[in-house]
Amino acid sequence: MSGDYPEVRARLVSPNFADENWTFRIADCPFCGRTHIHGAGPNVADAHTYYGTRVSHCQNPTKRGTYRLIPAAMRGEGNK
Ligand SMILES: [Zn+2]
Repeated sequence: MSGDYPEVRARLVSPNFADENWTFRIADCPFCGRTHIHGAGPNVADAHTYYGTRVSHCQNPTKRGTYRLIPAAMRGEGNK
């Protein structure tokens, strides 16, 4: 079951430097409408394991909530 969390498409962004992690970029937060970045680990091959529920990074703490990151490039793939 998907639970009560809204799904948001996360675009995988490559690191700028070798010692940085991959990141997910959320274009429009369902809670505050801003862009948020979430860590996706050091290896792109493992980045898919970082999808799932996250607490949003809203600047206003009272707006924060939990959403589910889903792959932006794999929309329509039948997430349950
Ligand atoms: Zn937000």
